[in-house]
Amino acid sequence: VNSVFGAGGTSIFETMSRLAAETGSINLGQGFPEGLEPPEVVEAAIAALRAGPHQYPPMMGVPALRRAVAENTKRFLGLDVDWEREVLVTSGATEALADAFFGLLEPGDEVILFEPAYDSYATIIRRAGAIPVPVRLAPPDWALPRERLVDALTPKTRAIVVNTPMNPIGKIFDESELAFLAELVLERDLVVIADEVYEHLVLDGRRHLTLFADPRVRDRVVRIGSAGKTFSVTGWKVGYVTADAKLLAPIARAHQFITFTTPPALQAAVAFGLGLPDAYFLGLRAELARRRDLLVGGLRAAGFEVADVAATYFAVAAVDGLDDAGDDFAFCKRLTLEAGVTAVPISSFYGARDVRSHIRFCFAKREDTLTQAVERLAAWR
Ligand code: PMP
Ligand code: GLN
Repeated sequence: VNSVFGAGGTSIFETMSRLAAETGSINLGQGFPEGLEPPEVVEAAIAALRAGPHQYPPMMGVPALRRAVAENTKRFLGLDVDWEREVLVTSGATEALADAFFGLLEPGDEVILFEPAYDSYATIIRRAGAIPVPVRLAPPDWALPRERLVDALTPKTRAIVVNTPMNPIGKIFDESELAFLAELVLERDLVVIADEVYEHLVLDGRRHLTLFADPRVRDRVVRIGSAGKTFSVTGWKVGYVTADAKLLAPIARAHQFITFTTPPALQAAVAFGLGLPDAYFLGLRAELARRRDLLVGGLRAAGFEVADVAATYFAVAAVDGLDDAGDDFAFCKRLTLEAGVTAVPISSFYGARDVRSHIRFCFAKREDTLTQAVERLAAWR
């Protein structure tokens, strides 16, 4: 077994989804939505598949999608992007992350990750020969730990991963945190891997903020998006990278040897989707907010301690009732088997697996799914 990929075993999302399927449990573990796919985007994919072409599209992505990414960035963030030189289409954000790490890192480079961190970062960084350096955020507010961050920087630090809105805790990095990061990035000559797959899933009138908007560091930011989240089609695996042409070039070189391209019909459909009127994007937010309220309210009524959240698909609950070993994975297994509801343990978002304070629920499900889940949890408690 490869020492890097073997170390973590099977992804927690796969593990919990399999356990839920085997036991008939309601799966609020893995982050994927239910019944939110915009029908017109699905129709656009079908039409594009019928019309073809069916052969390799350009390595950088089909022009219509690259243009649509640039236009969407202008519409929602007010930022100018040169679609021909600054946009790359990838097979999901997962590939974009791998392209960025393989393309930008040299062996021995250090990369700052904020924990709890999405699970693919550290693994791919290691496989690129570089070293993930975790910096932990702490509940209840998960604020940027400025001193600890500065202490973690060394002359070998090359990059910082900034995932905002942040999986699994739903944190939105605020203006002052981003300004602090921008100064460090300049001072220490770093690049930012900005994982912004949840950019459109920002609720309650909050705004998505990005380091890409800061002119001081704009040419140091690799901004990553995902159609999987924006159009509730996580199985499609269409992602995109926006970055200054010089920064994008080595990422594109990695991309050409990892997947080379992404299915052209799906690219065409996503291009269509990114051009949908504002009402689509606002409607998605409103629907997610309703679902969030339903799950968070239900969990609280069932006695769970759940923090407010205004982004992503996720709500985290503080865990009590752990067994003597304090094992949150065992707790999630027990919840699956006894209550028939599946969540994800937060320890899987820590390299050392030692923080076991929370479990993550996905609220992007149908109303009846959430209602049933909450009823089961209330009966179980
Ligand atoms: N980054 C984060 C923070 C995610 O939550 C996810 C998906 N859950 C990804 C990247 C991967 O996105 P994709 O499915 O487009 O590969
Ligand atoms: N990103 C999704 C989550 O956090 C799952 C992705 C995956 O299954 N690898 O749940």
